[in-house]
Amino acid sequence: MAMVLKCGDRRAKRLSSVDMSASMDGMTVGQGKQEWKSLDPGELDRYAWQLDIEGFGVRGQERLKNASVLVTRCGGLGGVVAYELAAAGIGRMVVAHGGQLKSSDMNRQLLMSDEMVGKSRMESIVRRLRQFNSRMELIPYDVNVSGENVEELVGQVDLVVDCAPLFEERYLLNREVVRRGIPMVECAVYEMEAVLTCILPGKTPCLRCLYPEFPGHRTGISGFWCGIRQSGIDGGHGGHQDIGWIRGTIDESDAAL
Ligand SMILES: [Zn+2]
Repeated sequence: MAMVLKCGDRRAKRLSSVDMSASMDGMTVGQGKQEWKSLDPGELDRYAWQLDIEGFGVRGQERLKNASVLVTRCGGLGGVVAYELAAAGIGRMVVAHGGQLKSSDMNRQLLMSDEMVGKSRMESIVRRLRQFNSRMELIPYDVNVSGENVEELVGQVDLVVDCAPLFEERYLLNREVVRRGIPMVECAVYEMEAVLTCILPGKTPCLRCLYPEFPGHRTGISGFWCGIRQSGIDGGHGGHQDIGWIRGTIDESDAAL
């Protein structure tokens, strides 16, 4: 049986050394130190419409540029999150989504296109994101989250956005972010219901606190059976929430459940 780490676990708190505001200002990005990258003239022009927003400014934009985010998966929900983050100017994005595109995906998966049905979903995701923001560093994984890859995926980012359809994937991501002490934004939709939860290990409940037992598929918020635009709406909110984390304007008191 897999070991379950809860967010209140002492081991999780000990590992929870990453404070988003401090880490981004202190030039500690992800799991290692990198040189802080300032905005270049092209970026000052590209993001001109948001640089004047009070409380955001050049510093906020630079935080986005220096941030690294994992989005998994990138379908109806995660695709919108990834698109929004690319638009906002995230510097580095790891995306994970396996399988081949189906016709029945096309009612919600906005990064795809008709002629790609039957081909790799990730091929469409990469093409669309690179077309949209060629400045962003994009690291694609043509697989879904599993026990074999979760450490590698989570280990290279500052923030995780969980848009997985299966609780098995969500629990794996939760365990890894708790172990590493990095924040995760949980996005989920089911029919007309959407749920957005921010998890800051050691400070807020984690997914295991909220759902100690596997709740089954397509019941409550665990389901991801969505044929309408609810996924896009929740994805848009999810992207907004991620940007708040990176800017350092959201803390545990805002991580409403
Ligand atoms: Zn917990």
